[in-house]
This record gives sequence, structure tokens and C-alpha cells, in this order.
Amino acid sequence: MKKLGFGTMRLPLTDRNDPASVDVKTTAEMFDRYLAEGFTYFDTAYFYHKGRSESVIGDLLVKRHPRESFTITDKLPIDFLHEKSDVQRIYGEQKQRLGTEYFDWYFMHAISRERFDTAKELGVLDFLAKKKEEGEIRRIGFSFHGKPEELEYILSDYVPELVQIQLNYYDWFDSGVESSKLHDIAVKHGVQLSIMEPLRGGALASPPQEVKEALAGIVPGASPAEAGIRFAASMENVMIVLSGMSSMDQLTENMAYMKDFKPLSKEQLDKMAALNTLLDSCTRIKCTACRYCVDGCPMKIAIPEYFELYNKSEIFGMRMAFTGKYKKLSETHGKAKDCLSCGACEQVCTQGLPISSLMAEVSAKFDK
Ligand code: SF4
Ligand code: SF4
Repeated sequence: MKKLGFGTMRLPLTDRNDPASVDVKTTAEMFDRYLAEGFTYFDTAYFYHKGRSESVIGDLLVKRHPRESFTITDKLPIDFLHEKSDVQRIYGEQKQRLGTEYFDWYFMHAISRERFDTAKELGVLDFLAKKKEEGEIRRIGFSFHGKPEELEYILSDYVPELVQIQLNYYDWFDSGVESSKLHDIAVKHGVQLSIMEPLRGGALASPPQEVKEALAGIVPGASPAEAGIRFAASMENVMIVLSGMSSMDQLTENMAYMKDFKPLSKEQLDKMAALNTLLDSCTRIKCTACRYCVDGCPMKIAIPEYFELYNKSEIFGMRMAFTGKYKKLSETHGKAKDCLSCGACEQVCTQGLPISSLMAEVSAKFDK
């Protein structure tokens, strides 16, 4: 199987403000072209494009192409399950939207330790095993969003045939995601991997100029997108790398280097993984997260964490992941706007940062 998977969570739209307004004509052309070039793997989920992703796959693939000429991976949204009967109801709805008799891969969606326990309590594992026995599901997996220790907890209990994790050269060592640890745990348990966010939502397709230049030295002749996707595809046990392609141009570019995929060398991979330091150094607030300032803040503001979110949003653009983390942190800490400009933190800051004025900038971004 070719290693470029078609992620259908960012399909072209006719109205950019309405995720359900999938541009069916352009999508049909992209799907047909992808199949014509010998690629086969489509990834969808219950709520992508407000549910339209599944029905678009049903209309454009299942109805128009031989079912064995492509594979569908769909996902059960564990957060939508409140009682056992919800499992069969949503599963049935998905089959109906797709118009398919079977799923090539069927995942539990966005599994964390907590969601895995919920899935077990609601009998999801037994349900999936039964559907597999009946031939409606060919292979079982889960997509994972959590910390490495949670993945270890789950895989020590249950080993599926495929696990989907976030992996890219920035997150390889990033303390928020720790792709390298997730990867190594999966390999240790002998699990094949599907990779999501190889370009971090598209951000690594156009990184800062310094990073572009460094990449050109490591993978000569490759665009940042090519280098990023080949980084993920070169890792051990990686079966497929998903790209959420939104235009024919993106699809054409990705297929050109993934048609006859050439893995990067160990040296190239190591050099790319080290670029996270350069990416971080392109950031505006040079906080080293030493935490000297934290205890003295009368408003219990999460100073280094807020600076990290600010920096990431400067590199990668404002994203739900950052606003969500800020919101969660500010439930137990002062918000950036609560800063009293008392200066206690600035007196101890090891980097001499003008924390109170920087906090005003953080607030302008996050306290809306
Ligand atoms: S200046 Fe703001 S962030 Fe710094 S200690 Fe005072 S309240 Fe906390
Ligand atoms: S003391 Fe300065 S460098 Fe250290 S965590 Fe606080 S803001 Fe960051």
C-alpha cells in the first residue's frame, strides 16, 4: 500500500465559514485522481465536516468506484456515547452514511486513558470484536490523543491492529505531545501506526524562513511539506501518513513524492527532529520555563505555560488546541488579564523578561 492517506477532515469548501459546505465537484476530482495514481487509503470520522465527510465518501467513492479499489477508515466518537445502545446506533448511522457493507479499518476515536475506560464500560471492545467476527469490520484500531503513559496503560491491556498518533518533526521531542515516546511505545507493543498531523495542521508546510533554509540543507530539493511528510513516513512501523488535503495542488504535490516513496536516512531524521529547537528559537518570548517566577505571583498566573502557548500560536497561528489549553489552565490559574503589574515576577526572572507587559500581549490574544 502507498503510504499517503487521504484525510477527509479538511476537504475543499464552497463556503469557508461552513464546514458542512464540502465542494463536491472538486472533491470528486481529487478522489478520482488519487485513486488513478494508485493510492487507496481514506480516513474519515463521524463528525468531520459536521457529518458530511462520511456521506461525501459514500457518494463519491462507494457509489462510483469498485469497493475493493479503496479502503475506508472510520471512527466511533467515544464522547458521544452515553449508554450501550449508542454504540450500535452511531455505528449503524455511519454505515448508512457511507453506504458500505464493511469498514476496512474501524477505530475508537481520540482515545485517552479515560475514554478507553469509558469504551470498555460501554462494551465497545466486545461490540467491535463481534462485528469483526461477522465480517463488517476487517481490522480494529484507535486514534490516540494523550500522554505516553496513557498509551502504555492502554496497550498493556489491549493491542489493536493499528494506532493513529500525532507525529511530526516538531512534536518528536515537544513536551506537549512527545511523538517519539508515543512511537516507541507503539513499536514496543508491535503495533502498526497511522500518522496524523504530519505537518501540524499545515503549519510545517510554511515554517519560518530559518527553518525553511535548514530543511533545504537536510533534504535538498524537497519542499517543507515533502520533508515533513517523508519524516513521518520514514519512521519504523508507520503504515500510512494522513494528509488532510484541501486542494488539487496539495494533492498533486504530495502524490509526486509519495508515489515512489523514498525514506529519509537516520541522519536526516535526527537533524530534522533537532529543528524543534530552531523553531522554538524563532519565538518572541524567550522564556526558558525555569519557573522561578511562578510561586511569587499573587494571582497564580501560569506564566511559563501562557508564554509557551503564545509562542506556539506565533509560529503555527492561532489554533483551537492553544485556546483550549489556555482555557483549561485559566480554570485553575489566574488569567493573563488578571496580572496586577506588581513586578514580583520580573524581580526574579532569570531572563530579565518584561513579564507584565508581555502578559498584556498574551491577554490580547487569549482573553477574548
Ligand atoms: S506582574 Fe503579573 S504575572 Fe507578575 S507576579 Fe505580578 S501579577 Fe503575577
Ligand atoms: S522566571 Fe522568566 S524565564 Fe523563568 S519561567 Fe518565569 S518568565 Fe520564564
